[in-house]
Amino acid sequence: MTGEILGKYIIDYSIKTLEPLAIGGTQQNIRISESDRPVLKDSNEIPYIPGSSIKGLFRTFFDRMTEGFKQLTQNHPAFSGVKFNLTHNNPNKSEEVCDCTQLTTLKEDEICDLCLLFGAKGYGSPLIFTDLLLDEEKEDIELEHNTHIRIDRGTDTTVKGALFYVESVPKDIEFKGKIIFEVRDINEQIKNRIDLLFKILLHQIENREMHVGGMKSRGYGLCSFKINEIHYYSLQDLILGNLEEKKPLIIDQFLSWS
Ligand SMILES: [Zn+2]
Repeated sequence: MTGEILGKYIIDYSIKTLEPLAIGGTQQNIRISESDRPVLKDSNEIPYIPGSSIKGLFRTFFDRMTEGFKQLTQNHPAFSGVKFNLTHNNPNKSEEVCDCTQLTTLKEDEICDLCLLFGAKGYGSPLIFTDLLLDEEKEDIELEHNTHIRIDRGTDTTVKGALFYVESVPKDIEFKGKIIFEVRDINEQIKNRIDLLFKILLHQIENREMHVGGMKSRGYGLCSFKINEIHYYSLQDLILGNLEEKKPLIIDQFLSWS
């Protein structure tokens, strides 16, 4: 159903904090700490950014771009003749609910393009985002701790007992991670649309700034994204294991629309 693997793109990228980063875990990941909002850490107490958070960030971004994609296909030569199937963004439904979840058997020609790229219940995404880690020799960073006051937005007054403590990763810290994109043997037309969406995704990572984590309105989370290397490994490379010898692709060329 998901198609044979034809090859893999591996994107090495980094995220650098331009503002303090307050990225907490889900409830079960949060360890007891003096901070009300502790930074997410691994079992060695080293902060990291979960790949799933970054994937979610981009899925939300794409979800809100349906109009933009429509215009692209009308106005840009690289997209002429392309018909994106982005039924995911149905204004009558919440973001999480997609028509694809109504399907009993998930086939590529029935799933919307966004679910094909980012995955849906019962359909594995060809995109894998690994967790973003600090460089080994730079793991010893000093986290920041700040006190904030919760304000009642209705009255603009301080809420009683409203002090809370936020732990954050300071500015100028770099995390590195990988995006793996599996090229699958699927219907040519669908593959073409998915490849274009993948390329648009890479453009959002190359030299862009985005907010990661929480507390955006309080001056947290702005990060710069940068692609370091793009590799493509064919099926033969993957089977024979000659991955080290493979030269990276030229990023500008790969991202070019002409
Ligand atoms: Zn969908």
